[in-house]
Amino acid sequence: MTAPRLEIDLGKIEHNARTLVRRLARSGISVTGVTKATLGEPKIASALLRAGVSGLGDSHIENLERMRLASVPSTMTLIRTPMLSQADRVIKHADVSFNTELEIIAELSSAAQKAKTIHGVVLMVELGDLREGIMLADMLETVEATRCLPNIVFKGIGANLGCLNGISPDTTNMAALSRLADSIDAKFGPITDIVSGGNSANLNWALSGVDTGRINNLRLGESILFGCEALHRQPIEGLYTDSVTLIAEVIEFKAKPSLPWGEVAQNAFGETLDTADRGPISQAILAIGRQDTDPSGLAPPPGIEIIGASSDHLILDTGRVHVSVGDEIKFQINYSALLRTMTSPLCQPGFEPTDEEQ
Ligand SMILES: *Cc1c(COP(=O)(O)O)cnc(C)c1O
Repeated sequence: MTAPRLEIDLGKIEHNARTLVRRLARSGISVTGVTKATLGEPKIASALLRAGVSGLGDSHIENLERMRLASVPSTMTLIRTPMLSQADRVIKHADVSFNTELEIIAELSSAAQKAKTIHGVVLMVELGDLREGIMLADMLETVEATRCLPNIVFKGIGANLGCLNGISPDTTNMAALSRLADSIDAKFGPITDIVSGGNSANLNWALSGVDTGRINNLRLGESILFGCEALHRQPIEGLYTDSVTLIAEVIEFKAKPSLPWGEVAQNAFGETLDTADRGPISQAILAIGRQDTDPSGLAPPPGIEIIGASSDHLILDTGRVHVSVGDEIKFQINYSALLRTMTSPLCQPGFEPTDEEQ
């Protein structure tokens, strides 16, 4: 087998997704499975669908296309506002898109008319995290303008918290989203089908037993893959936290001093390090680096410590753990490291169980 590689356990991912789908169903909340961290990998999409997600969402139209081409049978939602330049592709491969700009929705309308199809629009509302979203005061008129556009159907509203500024979903901001759904329906009739409250950062709120109001959907990626919520990265009871592991190979193993010698200047990344002397160490080098992963998002096995990384080398202090050249070392990996590893052509994912076993 080649290294570096990701090992992805589809059974664990399916279990995590099914558990979250069931728990949220008690509050009338459906789950959109978010596939962006794994680039719309069809095997993962299929595992999510087996677990009962109501649809799939991705921030890149390219990933939705990949799943469509693989005949993944699902509603496809583009969960980032479309690029003006990609309107035709969005109409072709997404059933629904999340939007915040009328100019872009108008372009989607033109593209949908050309393609003789209907496209669903969810309008995103700004609730304080200051990433995407229409200001609350502008929502009713934006709904009205959206509804006037041919071949566009207003599907509902959504919000996204916990991403840029780490603002927590709570009873106050979620109640504001519910009230907005009520006021849209009061003005236009019962048109707000989808009220999508947020992402994995919403789980503490959604599973706490509070009244979840009109929120009837969450979009979950990280919590399904890693079994943790996204505000404090605490494990969620009953979920696997080790569905995804990264494996890299040892290419050098030597006893070395821990203190570099010679005159210290910047390293390859513009950092000036002040390395502490901790005496001689057992140092291993693995053939993986910052180009293939985010070294700060890797957790090494017990007794081993990551002491540095360059573009293509990961340096470990292996302590008392015996290591030889050619050995494989397995790491737990976080969301940030997964994003970078998945997008590295030098590090391919492998899946367990294999198709034949299923
Ligand atoms: C990435 C993303 C999600 C999924 O977030 P997780 O924290 O991985 O659950 C949901 N909604 C939007 C708009 C996103 O960009």
